[in-house]
Amino acid sequence: MNAQELWNTAYHQLELQLDRASFETWLRGANLLAVDGDVFVIGVRNEYARDMLQHRLYRNVRRVLSDVAGKAVELRFELHKVPVRQPAAVEELVQMPLFQLMAQQDASQPSAPLHQQILRPERAPLPDHDLNSKYTFDRFLPGNENQMVYAAAQAVADLPGGSYNPFFVHGGVGLGKTHILQAIAHRCRARNLRAIYVPSEVFINDLVDAIRQKTTAMFRDKYRSCDVLLVDDIQFIAGKESSQEEFFHTFNALYTFNKQVVLASDRPPRDLQTLEARLRSRFEGGLVIDIQPPELETRAAILCQWAKENNIALPASTCEMIAAKARANVRELEGIFNQIVATIRLSGAKVTPMLTDDILDGYRRPRHRVTLKHVLETVANHHGLSTDDLIGPKRNGPINQARQIAMYLAREYTTASLPQIGDAFGGRRHSTVLHSCSKVEEEIRTSDAYAGIVNYLRDRLLKLK
Ligand code: ADP
Ligand code: MG
Repeated sequence: MNAQELWNTAYHQLELQLDRASFETWLRGANLLAVDGDVFVIGVRNEYARDMLQHRLYRNVRRVLSDVAGKAVELRFELHKVPVRQPAAVEELVQMPLFQLMAQQDASQPSAPLHQQILRPERAPLPDHDLNSKYTFDRFLPGNENQMVYAAAQAVADLPGGSYNPFFVHGGVGLGKTHILQAIAHRCRARNLRAIYVPSEVFINDLVDAIRQKTTAMFRDKYRSCDVLLVDDIQFIAGKESSQEEFFHTFNALYTFNKQVVLASDRPPRDLQTLEARLRSRFEGGLVIDIQPPELETRAAILCQWAKENNIALPASTCEMIAAKARANVRELEGIFNQIVATIRLSGAKVTPMLTDDILDGYRRPRHRVTLKHVLETVANHHGLSTDDLIGPKRNGPINQARQIAMYLAREYTTASLPQIGDAFGGRRHSTVLHSCSKVEEEIRTSDAYAGIVNYLRDRLLKLK
């Protein structure tokens, strides 16, 4: 066998031996560039792949290649960029009204070449408030366990519509899926790309509204005119026929133009039982990757980061102690952290093992599902109201505040979707629920007393048997 054949054989063996995500993410398309003595020089498509192969997968690849070659060989990975396809340019050129095209050509700035301008026709700017400003790449600590998702997500953000399309992230509650999606959106927007982030429930509701108000053309325009479409909690679309149909067309429209689609779900595509087969195969055709619960060190590092951001003196040893006891997901870790912060702020207490034990007790519970009924009852009781007050139409101050907190807790701690929450609160709209959630988040950030109430209620809710 010559060197090329050796590499081809090793490549196919690696495809069988490595798990699918690893192979697809890092090795797919890797080719032999040269042989330099005993060193095989392999070209890979981006620097994430190069670093990953050089540092983490080196031994695996070398072993397989050495076995095939019948002698020990070494490897070197180098960047080998394949030109990006741009078929969208011509299509958009054709679709653009003539006067707009001419206006662009007339504008005599020493600007980008015409085809690039055509790729960015004037479009309304996107609101930034749909993204949480804290969900950025630098605030996500991947640990060892999530290196791959982290690197792949950055690759997607740096080269949308490139090799990982669609990009499908799945994993349990509170492990950072939303954080990752929004980090991609932030980075793309920073480069003036149009990135739409939308929870699938909002997509579904927009569609229903559009059908009702006969504005489906506008709906399509909105979702098909972006560079990157990120749909969160896509599991809620399964089983909803017309939404799946519309999403399928949106997906195809974007995909054909090399626009990036990013999806998050609580389970892998194959487990989305009522998902149409053609959508499932579309999802599986991209990069499907799972997000893992953080290991001990990662949990401790996350706590330390939060403490630093909040100017709380939490020594590394305390972070480790808390992390060792709090084995749940990151969202719960956040709950515990918030509670510690609130306790310190409200009572001036020092962080002691006893204090943290006490707080952790609330989380070391036999896991039960928090239901909408629990939430309504807990919040109503605490405010001296009845659940009917929360569900009913009254809008005075205290009732309003209680209702907003209840909606927030329902969103965070039950498995109900936005429309389900809206229904449970007397048929309110999903946008009302979303609005309440951001209002509460805002209040928590600005008022310690308010944060104290929410923490207290969260604690009650999670301690319920
Ligand atoms: P999911 O969408 O998977 O339910 P989220 O993205 O809402 O989870 O994450 C829950 C919280 O935990 C968020 O505040 C997020 O910033 C935080 N978080 C999750 N994973 C990490 C991580 N690895 N590093 C830092 N923060 C994290
Ligand atoms: Mg989420």
